[in-house]
Amino acid sequence: MKKIALLLVVTLMFSCKSKGQDKDEKESFSVNKTDSQWKAELTDMEYYVLREAGTERAFSSPLNNEYRSGTFHCAACNTPLFKSENKFDSGTGWPSFDQEIKGNVAFSTDYDLGYARTEEHCATCGGHLGHVFNDGPKDTTGKRHCINGVALDFVPEN
Ligand SMILES: [Zn+2]
Repeated sequence: MKKIALLLVVTLMFSCKSKGQDKDEKESFSVNKTDSQWKAELTDMEYYVLREAGTERAFSSPLNNEYRSGTFHCAACNTPLFKSENKFDSGTGWPSFDQEIKGNVAFSTDYDLGYARTEEHCATCGGHLGHVFNDGPKDTTGKRHCINGVALDFVPEN
C-alpha cells in the first residue's frame, strides 16, 4: 500500500514537471525582450507583475474604478487585451472582466498557491496579467478575469 502511494507521488511530481517544460517549449511570443530590456522599459511595479508574475495590492490600481468606454491594453507591448463593456465590479479590488479579447490573451496553469489556477498572460509578449476564476457574472460567461491594473493601460474611446 505504501509503495502504491509513493508511486502516485512520484508520478504526480513528474507530470507537474513535464507540464511546465512543455509550456516553455511550446509558447513563443512575437515580442521578445531580455530581462534587462524589460527592466529598463517598465516601472518596478510593472516589472514585478508582468515579468515576475507578482500581484498588486487590492484596490491599489486607479483602473479598478475606470468605467469609461475604451480598451485596456498590455502595459508592456500595447496589445489590446480587454474591452470596457466586459468590465464589471467584482468587489475584489482588482479590475475584473467577464471575457478577454479573443486571441490576444493566452492561458496556462500555475500551482503557486499549492493548487491549480488558470493563469493568463499577454499572447504577444508573455507578460503576466492575472488569473481566471469561475465565479464571474452568471448572465454572461460566468468567468472572472482578475487582472492586475498595473499590467494594463487604459485607452479611452473618442
Ligand atoms: Zn504584452
